[in-house]
Amino acid sequence: MTLGPSAQQWAAAVAAVRSAGLDDEIQLICHVNPDGDALGSMLGFGLGLRRLGFTRVRATFPGDFVVPTPYQRLPGADLLVPEPDAFADPRLVMVFDVASESRLGALAGRLAAAPASVVLDHHASNTGFGGVRLVDPQAAATSVVADGLLSRLGVPLDPEIAECLYVALATDTGSFKFDMTTVSVHELAARLIATGIRPGEISRQIFDSKPFGAMKLTGEVLGRAVLEPAAAGGRGMVWTYATLADLERYGQPPYVLDTLIDPVRSVAEADVSVVVKQVAAGEWSVSLRSKGAVDVSGVAVSQGGGGHRLAAGFTGYGEPSDVVDTVRRLVDEHLN
Ligand code: AMP
Ligand code: MN
Ligand code: MN
Repeated sequence: MTLGPSAQQWAAAVAAVRSAGLDDEIQLICHVNPDGDALGSMLGFGLGLRRLGFTRVRATFPGDFVVPTPYQRLPGADLLVPEPDAFADPRLVMVFDVASESRLGALAGRLAAAPASVVLDHHASNTGFGGVRLVDPQAAATSVVADGLLSRLGVPLDPEIAECLYVALATDTGSFKFDMTTVSVHELAARLIATGIRPGEISRQIFDSKPFGAMKLTGEVLGRAVLEPAAAGGRGMVWTYATLADLERYGQPPYVLDTLIDPVRSVAEADVSVVVKQVAAGEWSVSLRSKGAVDVSGVAVSQGGGGHRLAAGFTGYGEPSDVVDTVRRLVDEHLN
């Protein structure tokens, strides 16, 4: 059993934040290709820093400055800057939802050079980088850790902070469906909703408003899915892939494929589900899910990726069939 942050680590994180002057530069960073938890926990915490009086807070992530449309209207989105506009030499760096330094790209250097840094995360595969480490593998989302630090800093929840943390919590729990959806998750959700935010409206905006082209693209990619009943020790594996040409044909940005794993993993005949998404020629972002038969985090870590026991990812190379061959073999090595 892996424990969350110790009392000393919480105290050290509070001290790191308090060590910054109100006009010092504070740089917040989340992982490449940010999802709802990465952006929600980072922006919610950034708003909290504003409430504390910090005047120079910026938020960023490595790579192309593409914020998925559903998250563009998050409170605190005005804190976001493209990677080149991040503070060059910040006094304090805070990192959100990042399992390993590789997910920080060139911004890893900013973290290493900062006089103070705090890492907030919940990945079982977290590699233990950064100054103060608030890593809780039992937390359903990084926003749970962010809430813990905000409350220790004496920042009360308000509707704007709550909306950010709620989006993070709802996305990482699959709308409160996954195993991590504990009593304390619902208690946090209750505290967030008590600020007056509207879960129905938020969910519609985040989960239920996709362009028509994204739906058509999803239809085509799901249509080519393959079921392999004998894989994963007979528990079954289902997989599909999407290319950059597919995206182009439907005029869609890559992030519309981030939720494609959800219908794939709903297939009853398969324990393991795989979506292989092209990011460049011969390079693929691989999403892995299991219903319990396989530790997909182990599979991902062995390929240089990371994640959680039942949800993980890595970067694969070659043709989609090469990537799937690798996954099929590794899944058999990581049966529970
Ligand atoms: P995804 O399939 O992209 O939704 O990712 C599932 C989980 O695996 C998330 O917790 C991600 O943060 C993690 N993950 C995905 N890709 C990587 C990677 N290349 N390195 C580390 N963690 C990853
Ligand atoms: Mn994430
Ligand atoms: Mn997360």
